[in-house]
Amino acid sequence: MSSKKLLNPSKDDKPLWLHVEVLDAPIGGGGNRKWRCRYCNKIVTGSYSKVRAHLLKISNMGVEACKGISDDVYRQIEAEHKRAEEKVAKEAMNVRQRNQCMAYQGGSDLVQPKKRKGALELAFNVADRDEIDKDCAMMFYTGGISFNFARNPFFRNYSLKLANSNVAGYTPPTYNRLRTTLLSQQKQHVQRLVQPVKDSWKKKGASICSDGWCDRQQKPLINIMVASAAGPMFLKSVDASQVKVKDAEYIAALFMEIVEEIGPEHVVQIVTDNASNYKAAGALIETKYPRIFWTPCVVHSNVIIFVTGLLLNFVLTSFLEIWIWSLEFVHWQ
Ligand SMILES: [Zn+2]
Repeated sequence: MSSKKLLNPSKDDKPLWLHVEVLDAPIGGGGNRKWRCRYCNKIVTGSYSKVRAHLLKISNMGVEACKGISDDVYRQIEAEHKRAEEKVAKEAMNVRQRNQCMAYQGGSDLVQPKKRKGALELAFNVADRDEIDKDCAMMFYTGGISFNFARNPFFRNYSLKLANSNVAGYTPPTYNRLRTTLLSQQKQHVQRLVQPVKDSWKKKGASICSDGWCDRQQKPLINIMVASAAGPMFLKSVDASQVKVKDAEYIAALFMEIVEEIGPEHVVQIVTDNASNYKAAGALIETKYPRIFWTPCVVHSNVIIFVTGLLLNFVLTSFLEIWIWSLEFVHWQ
């Protein structure tokens, strides 16, 4: 008889029915039943949501919280409930479009003002987000990607677009597309961006600035920047690991190449640190281009002045102290 079925409702997706004794099923079906709590013996007429509210002590659901339940049993019931919700959510995921389920932006879906979501949908999103987070983490770990990359605004933007766009069947760009088409497109884009800066060199002149650095493998490299009224611009980085960095002629040739690239008539000065090799290179450049000045970097000069000042201060103070001490010594004699 059908009443038997009603008295034994589904245990898989509504496991908390097992914690109450169903006494009576309503005439004509429906979700309401008369049931007795197995822990406090309270008799209630209501649907599964009232069973859940009673056992899990959820307020404002029109039913008192259970007073006969121990903490251990409470945790067990809570776990059973969570498992059931996750199971239903997984099944729902096979039916629904993934995009539809990821439509909520940022933060927790537990807070959805005005548009109330059912518990199943909430559980669905939480489980799904966990899965996606794990996939993302594996991408970082297996690809040897720096954790700092998670802060990359382009990565964040890309992820956000993936989550919110409806481009069905989209897949990330392939290895070859990244290194060919997309790379040249981005290069053109950057060139368009810096063109106004380059144009300003011809109108107002430019200063070539350089500094020696080491890359992650401690190989020397020379960075070349161009400063102008329109702002500073990174021009190039030269791998100097295979050449004699100390060689003034090499450095001079490098700068002359850049001077020719910009146009000698537009270059006002070349700023480098004042190491002897750069100094000699500066002299070579001034010989070839009398209109271009070599300027030692102010920061480097300042450091030297500061250190020299400290040393002088130390020497003078020590001298003064010795002199006072010797005067006192003579006085005691
Ligand atoms: Zn109870």
